[in-house]
Amino acid sequence: MESFVKRNIPTLFFAIALALTLSACTTPSQDSGKLQVVTTIGQIADAAQNIGGDLIEVTPLMGPGVDPHLYVASEGDVTTLQNADVILYNGLFLEAQMVGILEQISEYKTVVAVAESIPAERLLASPVYPDEHDPHVWFDVQLWQFVVEEVRDTLMAADPENAAAFEANAAAYLAELDTLDSYVQSQAERLPADQRILITAHDAFNYFGRAYGFEVMGLQGISTQSEASTSDVQELATTIVERQVPAVFIESSVPVRTVEALQEAVRARGHEVAIGGQLFSDAMGSPDTPEGTYLGMVRHNIDTIVGALLGGN
Ligand SMILES: [Zn+2]
Repeated sequence: MESFVKRNIPTLFFAIALALTLSACTTPSQDSGKLQVVTTIGQIADAAQNIGGDLIEVTPLMGPGVDPHLYVASEGDVTTLQNADVILYNGLFLEAQMVGILEQISEYKTVVAVAESIPAERLLASPVYPDEHDPHVWFDVQLWQFVVEEVRDTLMAADPENAAAFEANAAAYLAELDTLDSYVQSQAERLPADQRILITAHDAFNYFGRAYGFEVMGLQGISTQSEASTSDVQELATTIVERQVPAVFIESSVPVRTVEALQEAVRARGHEVAIGGQLFSDAMGSPDTPEGTYLGMVRHNIDTIVGALLGGN
């Protein structure tokens, strides 16, 4: 027995070494040689993919319907983050449960809070936390262009060999965002100013409201971490009846029950408010649908909002 082990020690070493090598090879990074980019929300992954194209590999941690305010990194996510070359997250306290791990990893890896590149004077204050900013910057297409530029610059620095391609792709994508911004603006203008009232499940649309002239109200606060209170529901129900608002909206990343409670409270006041459709607020749609891209998500939202609010007439 003893001699068997002794004789086989080199084999055992080889097996262990092989296992270690294989486990180190589980990321495509070593396989493909492409820059490995890991993001939190899909919107950022989409920006990186548009800039990096086939030259990079992008992995978003948060898929369709996932709420970034509540998201906690799994063990698998930690491995994914550790294997990344570049990590991009929104910041401004959007990913509230991930700040700790991201800050830890930033000590030895490129970790960028892309929304924090937006000039502070363009940011809105958080209505709840006075020292913080509202993190939902992607609803204003012009603000999102700052984020796209930050993603571009980060990729160019991380992978200088492909910098020219990243720059060209980003320029083309930024032009598409210009077109998108004009589209949202022109759709919004189809609604008379006094009918531009957007009521949603949580307070995510303040940048949208400022950019495109909507008054916005959310049932839950700026983060979904706190539940809507009964008085919030009653107060909004009163507003809906007084202002004769025809439709309110659910969000793909927030449970519908709060909006349904609102609908009930409005009904109790003898008024009907429709659910005008589902908006993609903090998470994008499925990857195989138009709403699985930032461009498609923004178009879907404005079309749904304008359609439902116009249809109420
Ligand atoms: Zn949110």
